[in-house]
Amino acid sequence: MRKPIIAGNWKMNKTVAEALELVKDLRFKLENVSDVEIVVCPPFLAVQSVYQFLKGSNIKVGAQNCYFEKKGAFTGEVSPAMLKEAGCSFVILGHSERRQYFKESDEFINKKIKAVLPEGLLAIVCVGETLEEREKNIWKEVIKTQVTGGLKGITKEEVSKLVIAYEPVWAIGTGKVASKEQAQEVHKFIRDLFVKLYDKNTAEALRIQYGGSVKPDNISLLMSEPDIDGALVGGAALEAESFMKLVKFEKKAKQ
Ligand code: PEP
Repeated sequence: MRKPIIAGNWKMNKTVAEALELVKDLRFKLENVSDVEIVVCPPFLAVQSVYQFLKGSNIKVGAQNCYFEKKGAFTGEVSPAMLKEAGCSFVILGHSERRQYFKESDEFINKKIKAVLPEGLLAIVCVGETLEEREKNIWKEVIKTQVTGGLKGITKEEVSKLVIAYEPVWAIGTGKVASKEQAQEVHKFIRDLFVKLYDKNTAEALRIQYGGSVKPDNISLLMSEPDIDGALVGGAALEAESFMKLVKFEKKAKQ
């Protein structure tokens, strides 16, 4: 049984004071939840304060990015060890906004994955096709390239430290959520890919989140699909009330 994982990607939102206000509310509202793994990913500057406040709770902290080098002359960058020390358990890598605005390639993302795992961080690795790629019906090739390129040299033992987030670019921040059938089709494709690249047990244990306009009113249907194991959420993670509803989604039997 894969434990569902709901993660909030706050992107470039929330000052430290605002972040603390949000997690104060969340800690209280979510304190009884044990059947879902909960992660919040604030901007770098708020990571440490958020972690200090959430320490001992059921809410884990993640970062939204990092660099692959351990230290040195890389102005503006943050290392995996710095994130670990600040309290991160997770780090999001390869988000489509980083691919799009900062031109991150699969090779670059691969270096980051290889750098974060030895530090004891778990990586949420994002993949997903653009609208044009979906319309051209080449999403399978796109996702296969992202998965094989991003995970080059990653062992099956290391796969247990990964979560894959399928985030169709056309659904992120647009209000256009993928249908549960569309999402399930891609999640199944990704899991089958892991069977081929690794083995059945590794693929079965892998958690695959869906991301892209997940809201309290659509999460239950998505989560009822057999290969959807959680959600990576942007907009709806910025308010305590909606994030709470996402974490406490109505559990329907998996189809
Ligand atoms: C995201 O940023 O990962 C995301 C899925 O955003 P939203 O939920 O706002 O579409």
